[in-house]
Amino acid sequence: MLIFDKLYVNGEWVPSSGIGSIEVLSASTEQAIGRVPEGTPQDVDRAVQAAGDSFESWSATSIEDRARLLQGLAEGLTTRADEIALTITGEVGMPLGLSKSIQVGLPITVLGSYAQMLGGFAFEERVGHSLVVREPRGVVGCITPWNYPLHQIVAKLAPALAAGCTVVVKPSAEAPLNAFILAEVVDQVGLPPGVFNLVSGTGPVVGEAMAAHPGIDMISFTGSTPAGKRVAELAARTLKRVALELGGKSADLILDDADLPRAVKACVSSCFLNSGQTCTAHTRMLVPRSHHAEAVRLAVEVARNFTVGDPFAGKAKLGPLVSTAQRERVRDYIKRGIQEGAELVLGGPEPPEGLPAGGYVRPTVFANVRPEMTIAREEIFGPVLAIMPYQDQEDAIRIANSTIYGLAGGVWSSDVARAQRVARSLRTGQVDINGAKFNPLAPFGGYKQSGYGRELGRFGLEEFLEIKALQLPGDA
Ligand code: NAD
Repeated sequence: MLIFDKLYVNGEWVPSSGIGSIEVLSASTEQAIGRVPEGTPQDVDRAVQAAGDSFESWSATSIEDRARLLQGLAEGLTTRADEIALTITGEVGMPLGLSKSIQVGLPITVLGSYAQMLGGFAFEERVGHSLVVREPRGVVGCITPWNYPLHQIVAKLAPALAAGCTVVVKPSAEAPLNAFILAEVVDQVGLPPGVFNLVSGTGPVVGEAMAAHPGIDMISFTGSTPAGKRVAELAARTLKRVALELGGKSADLILDDADLPRAVKACVSSCFLNSGQTCTAHTRMLVPRSHHAEAVRLAVEVARNFTVGDPFAGKAKLGPLVSTAQRERVRDYIKRGIQEGAELVLGGPEPPEGLPAGGYVRPTVFANVRPEMTIAREEIFGPVLAIMPYQDQEDAIRIANSTIYGLAGGVWSSDVARAQRVARSLRTGQVDINGAKFNPLAPFGGYKQSGYGRELGRFGLEEFLEIKALQLPGDA
């Protein structure tokens, strides 16, 4: 059991003003593995006050000092990497090996990238007789989900601190333990009091108090589209800046000249990563009608190898979903797919053999999925792939763009120039061509109802900066 009974505010561990606590359950056993305070709006007030008080001095620190502290955070997390990976596997259910490389490795990379980038970033530029300066936005509220919990905090924290902002972080109620380990690292590294504050709690209480708070200048939110809309509504009352990283329903568009086995394998792997609980998961596989049967055969062959099981045991490629509530939601989607006439070719809504408890779901593949079906339109957040046949390239682009989302996607072709042309016509924030790998320095974010704003790299840093123009007299 990891028990954290205090919040981290103004450089100290302090009790919540309330008496509630949140029990954290293991994704695989449903047993309690930890506990954190259930914060209150008064806790948010205290944290915002601390962040506001420390803003002036933190925003005046040198680039070198900020870079050194970011590097210190990266090193602090590295020292505790194994413990964090075990914690996140317990909370989220991702197989341990993947937790080490992705759940812990990625945030360390991102912290290091900002430590490095700071030195070369142009905070000032001349535009005619104006000097354009970039200044930190102020106090930032970071609200994050559970699926890549530490990464999602760090993707906000690192650029916000680099920019000179101070932060109040609210981690998800499902996977908050890793955020408390991060706070311990922050404490150890010696970030000045008030620069980083952690208030755990529920979305409707702590999250909404942050979104509405007049002392917060910007909310950076990652989560579901409905919650993001609510945050934007509340934030509008004080016209604070909002960055939203929301849901997705990304398509892998496999063109008729693509290497089909490679493309299918990569699409299944993308769809099933973290048991499908990835906002950028390629959950729709678009294939030419003439290749559909072969794509289905290949997908079933690949998907079958995604053994479901204990995420700590070493062999499983698919751990449980984060919670039984999420499991039930995903099983309902599978039933809906069957009811609406999609062809179930692998998996199904029943629990996998030998795993009656925990958030386990069978790797599931549907064929002959049509764009109007629920499983082709809504974000399922489970290991469920929809294979969709198309007529020609225009039809494929139309289908790919037919959802309310626009977060990610892929294009496959033996002609890279053609793939790029198709990629440009997709209304999404990222497109991987022929399975090109994730780039932690590339801008990450959505079109349409996948949100607005960009994270990571230089573009992520710019989100946390205001722009000011100083008009200089002729002799300056
Ligand atoms: P969620 O929207 O339920 O919760 C996300 C965070 O928002 C949590 O901290 C939660 O407590 C808080 N929250 C919930 N309701 C709120 C409210 N009314 N006001 C303020 N805060 C509120 O999402 P989740 O279930 O934790 O995560 C899964 C979702 O996140 C999926 O839709 C997924 O696609 C999305 N996601 C998006 C990205 C991205 O970068 N685009 C990355 C990961 C996950």
